[in-house]
Amino acid sequence: MIDIHTHIGRGTVKDEPVVDENELLKRMDELGIEKAVLLPRGVSPECSFFHFETEDVLEVYKKHSDRFIPFCNLDPRNGGNSPDTDFSWLLEEYREKGCKGVGELTGNLYIDDPLYKNLFYHCGKVGLPIIFHLAVGVKYGIYGAADDIYLPRLEKMLKELPDTIFIGHAMAFWSEITSEVDEETRGGYPKGEVKSPGRVPELLKKYPNLYGDLSAGSGYNAISRDPDYGYKFLEEFQDKLFFGTDICNVNQDVPIVPYFEKALAEGKISKIAYEKIVEGNAKKLLYKES
Ligand SMILES: [Zn+2]
Repeated sequence: MIDIHTHIGRGTVKDEPVVDENELLKRMDELGIEKAVLLPRGVSPECSFFHFETEDVLEVYKKHSDRFIPFCNLDPRNGGNSPDTDFSWLLEEYREKGCKGVGELTGNLYIDDPLYKNLFYHCGKVGLPIIFHLAVGVKYGIYGAADDIYLPRLEKMLKELPDTIFIGHAMAFWSEITSEVDEETRGGYPKGEVKSPGRVPELLKKYPNLYGDLSAGSGYNAISRDPDYGYKFLEEFQDKLFFGTDICNVNQDVPIVPYFEKALAEGKISKIAYEKIVEGNAKKLLYKES
């Protein structure tokens, strides 16, 4: 399995144990994860005290190039807080050093803010896909690129920047698996049947440059809240989804691993869809392997 989303570093809670590379490798071994995308942590100030930058990711990658797939990260305000900042030269430098993507983006600006749009443009130009954490708004107490209910701003970016690959992540993204989404619950883990598919399936169908990152409680909740719809969704979008954990704490619960094992063993999803989601799609997108 290839995990699209992991972190090393220290969180924001006092006395919280630090996830170091050995802890992460131990968890990957336990869970049967051969390779993991390693994302910088704390690049934007909204969700951090401590920084684990692109350079730190590359140091770990040098030691364990067989286990980690490095991503770089930038904040759209970096380099001068301007919608004209040239990010391409730095992204090219990171790409030359082995980085396969950018993220996860956590700066709390609207996703169609000219600053984000500029960063997305340069990612597309350099050929690096981005993982974004989607938030319900620009306000205190949250982090991530923000959108309104039904994701109009994300759609605008998908349409205006067809050369940029967007990989959606977090609660405000995955709540939109159903059209029965509301302001109260869209920033959390809404439960219940998916009576009619929402904006996420619609946008995945419509835009070749949108993918979904199934990591964390948000991705797992989306595919498990209505088990039958979840299996249908995985089957339908088998070319656009990535297995992931978002390991960022010691002893973090990772229910998506047994979920996939069980779904495959019980024939709820096809072997083809399973293989693409847990590995094939990542190889194809990040290594251009088919
Ligand atoms: Zn994360």
